[in-house]
Amino acid sequence: MSDNRRDFLKKSALLSLGTLAGKLVGNEQVNKLEEFGAMEFIDGGKFTLPALPYAYDALEPFIDKQTMEIHHTKHHQAYVDNLNKALENNKFEGLDAPFTFENIFKVPHKFPVLRNNAGGHWNHSFFWQCLSPNPKSEANFPSPTLIRIIEKDFGSFEAFKEQFEKTALSRFGSGWVWLCLNNGKLGIGSTANQDNPLMPNMEVIGKPVLALDVWEHAYYLKYQNKRADYVKGFWSIVDWNFVQKQF
Ligand code: MN
Repeated sequence: MSDNRRDFLKKSALLSLGTLAGKLVGNEQVNKLEEFGAMEFIDGGKFTLPALPYAYDALEPFIDKQTMEIHHTKHHQAYVDNLNKALENNKFEGLDAPFTFENIFKVPHKFPVLRNNAGGHWNHSFFWQCLSPNPKSEANFPSPTLIRIIEKDFGSFEAFKEQFEKTALSRFGSGWVWLCLNNGKLGIGSTANQDNPLMPNMEVIGKPVLALDVWEHAYYLKYQNKRADYVKGFWSIVDWNFVQKQF
């Protein structure tokens, strides 16, 4: 296990205990991390780019090193920077401090810059954790417990995968595919741009348990226009342990 991943797991474990660390300087702003999968978002008064819990080349050959590096250090970083900038420079009517994701997501439609960048930060922070280093190829299945949960709502694991893939391919333009838990039931859906199922009025709502980024920036260098191949490869790098922990 790399130092990065160990450190990341340690932090996640500490945070998942429920007390929230993320105090923002000055305003006593507290980040409600436990509702969002125990992620650390805030450090020293600003949202920060979380370190990847694995090396950039750890998902090869399914996602290449260059794509991961650009995706994390350029795209995700830009969402973090622009989110901080938006919060610094503007007053948002209806948005109360503390600036938790819960609060930010409550007012998504009035403030597209805030919505896009907060969503971009949350979505990518979640997505990185859905991926597991050292690809396991076809043998990468969920635990029997998780398989049973999936079978209950989709009939079979294969039917679940098929619906997820179909949703990924039918997203026109940029967006995300989600597996969500809503009132104890699993559902699959897609959101456009950097929207997510925690925002109001989405076509899919609930607590995300698995996400796939289907923006071209997530796959274009390796797969070009072949999104279907990228989605097929995704099954080899899903971190099913992380997925199961979201229940
Ligand atoms: Mn992305």
